[in-house]
Amino acid sequence: MSRISVLLPMLQSWSCHNCGGCCREHEITITELERQRIEGQGWVPADGIPADRPLLVRGAGGWRLNHRDDGACVFLDDGGLCRIHSKHGESAKPLACRMYPYAIHPAGVGLTASLRFSCPSVVQNLGTPITGARVEIESLAAEALQSKRAEVVCPDLRAGLEFDWGRLTRLLAWIERGLEQSGLSMSVRLQRLLLLLELLEQASAEAASEESFGHLLPALYATVERAFPGDAVEASQESRPQRIARMMLRQLVAQLIRHDTAETAAAGLSRRLRLLLDGVRMTVGLGVVPRSPDPNSVRVAFVERLGLAGQRRGVRFSELERGFGGGSPEIDELFHRYFHVKLQGRAFCGPAFYDYSVIDGLRSLVLMYPAVLWVARLRAAGEDRGVLQLRDVQAALAVLDHNFGYSPVLALRSSRRRVQQLAQLQQIAPLVVWYGR
Ligand code: SF4
Repeated sequence: MSRISVLLPMLQSWSCHNCGGCCREHEITITELERQRIEGQGWVPADGIPADRPLLVRGAGGWRLNHRDDGACVFLDDGGLCRIHSKHGESAKPLACRMYPYAIHPAGVGLTASLRFSCPSVVQNLGTPITGARVEIESLAAEALQSKRAEVVCPDLRAGLEFDWGRLTRLLAWIERGLEQSGLSMSVRLQRLLLLLELLEQASAEAASEESFGHLLPALYATVERAFPGDAVEASQESRPQRIARMMLRQLVAQLIRHDTAETAAAGLSRRLRLLLDGVRMTVGLGVVPRSPDPNSVRVAFVERLGLAGQRRGVRFSELERGFGGGSPEIDELFHRYFHVKLQGRAFCGPAFYDYSVIDGLRSLVLMYPAVLWVARLRAAGEDRGVLQLRDVQAALAVLDHNFGYSPVLALRSSRRRVQQLAQLQQIAPLVVWYGR
């Protein structure tokens, strides 16, 4: 097979720090070949695997690795290491385990790599620059694609307006330039981006065509910069987002925060009822915010290793509406890296993101900013702090990005309609400003 070239994000580092989170929070579906390989590895209880259950089970999606009652993969040892890896080497593990936290996405004839910020090491930028892992990532991409490689059609710019990968690359280069402007707060950088999307949405098909796109982009950017020449004035009570917008944001948070694992699936009807009730409480937004336990990765990486206390007390919805000092340079830098990785990896639209158009996908990505800051506020208020720390935001991002592009609930038409409705109401920017302060 010819060598596969993968575009990598420049700003991101990563290496695994064995929190064991991905081995508890993901169902690992395996191929028939992987099933045969694992069965041929001769596992016996003396290796430390559980004796009371099969190692592999067959579900709706095919064969997968089984889990213990506490949710851990049957091959996870007490030190957070994989027994297959320890006994037979990394290459003996299923591809899905070796791939995480990378995500490979098509971009025309080429490929791009994104990373999942649900891994605490990714969110904290721990390890070595991933550009140094090029050979490994390209080999994983080749294995994942095998003979299935074909050119994937670029998502529409907006519903019904065809686009191509070349124009998308040019658009993303302009967006990245805007997001790099560290002299401006992230809140202003995102308001500029939202205005650009609004203008692009209104552009005629001719203006967005291959011939004119090169002229359109600088003209739109000049308009955007004139509209937001510097940092905006402080958000006031008058700039508070509409009640319906804050409700829709809470609904989005409720969907992003939900982690379905083998352990929670086994919890059955009572858990499903509780989730339903929590969803209603998040929509209504009165009283105390429903508690949502941290996923294992966040508990190990942030609570046990970094001493973040986790939510100690019940927090009222109303407490999350005041300012929390969200726009510190280090928090802005975290979001900048996050957006860079998702943009560079094309992880926000098309086949990587529920077949969203480019504009709907970019708006969904921007909505991660107020959604993450809402959850970070909840963490800080639960510890009786009135100002956000970087760790609050890192932990919140690790929780929410788990589902970004991966939750079947977010694939529903109602989720896409919510993004479109917020845009029509012109409420995404107010949400960014309100929860970014
Ligand atoms: S979540 Fe990240 S740091 Fe934790 S075990 Fe998985 S890859 Fe390693």
